Amino acid sequence: MQGSRIMSTHSDQSAVTVLGLGPMGRALAGAFLDAGLRTTVWNRTPGRDGELVARGAITARSAEEAVAASELIVVCVVNYDAVDAVLRRDTVVEALKGRTVVNLSADTPDRARDTGDWATRHGVRYLDGAIMTPTTTIGTPDAVFLHSGPEGLYREHRPVLDVLGGTHTHLGEDIGRAAAYDVALLDIFWTAMAGYAHALAIARAEGITGRELAPFAQGIGAILPPLFAEFAGDADDGTYSGELNPITSAVSSMAHVIDTSEAHGIEAGVMRAVEGQARRVIGLGHGTDGYIRVTELLGRR
Ligand code: NDP
Repeated sequence: MQGSRIMSTHSDQSAVTVLGLGPMGRALAGAFLDAGLRTTVWNRTPGRDGELVARGAITARSAEEAVAASELIVVCVVNYDAVDAVLRRDTVVEALKGRTVVNLSADTPDRARDTGDWATRHGVRYLDGAIMTPTTTIGTPDAVFLHSGPEGLYREHRPVLDVLGGTHTHLGEDIGRAAAYDVALLDIFWTAMAGYAHALAIARAEGITGRELAPFAQGIGAILPPLFAEFAGDADDGTYSGELNPITSAVSSMAHVIDTSEAHGIEAGVMRAVEGQARRVIGLGHGTDGYIRVTELLGRR
């Protein structure tokens, strides 16, 4: 959709406001500009809009003025404390009444639901969303956006959201659902990053450079997608066959990571926690099951 122009339909879809000009807010505003939308921008700290203004963005002097400029307001700040600091002020609320907020800031499902309730009480039309890909993907086919909230409102604004590129998925009317997916997916991302940072430290201690390890690290990454699909079915169905790799074998492999780390004086707390969970599963009599039975353990209250 990059470069295309949006025509007005129900609401004014030729204008959009972006509140928050961190790296992601700037990328979103840039994509709206590329699509020819009248793009008004505002940021708490002035001076982040230079490049956008050079490309045609309009700078608002206040959040109130920015909100008043468009029917659709996209918010992208660090978290919902920041969202509250920007939106939950009387003069901003007054300006927001009847307009649509698409909040692409990240936070927890409960914060999203609380914001949804607040919006309903104040006559603000509200969609929550999450961006699952880096700034460089915005405006390209690689971007991934998740949305939740009233489906009619989503459909109404979908043409404008489409200019951000990539795929947009509406996950349902529960306003917290996009944040719930976001948190679950970030769990994968940050745990993997923690593992990679730790692996690089072990490799370095053994005289292996990051660049030497990287091709093999990518090979490990490539193993994961089919396993994700297989284990998702196991978790949904409660079947955890460990025929090919029982959890007793997995803990042995985890112990090698712990022992090698600690021999080099490298903290191994994350892997100790992982190994501890696996040992608890074995202690509960599930040693012949696969590792992913840990999901059941974590779900226990
Ligand atoms: P940050 O997460 O660092 O957020 C920076 C923005 O938040 C700035 O506009 C900053 O304003 C604003 N902000 C922080 N605190 C406040 C406050 N109290 N009141 C008002 N504004 C505040 O940068 P990004 O732009 O990268 O991220 C924005 C959102 O996008 C985050 O929720 C992030 O998780 C999400 N995201 C980012 C990705 C990325 O690759 N960057 C990828 C996917 C999602 P100021 O300039 O005044 O400090």
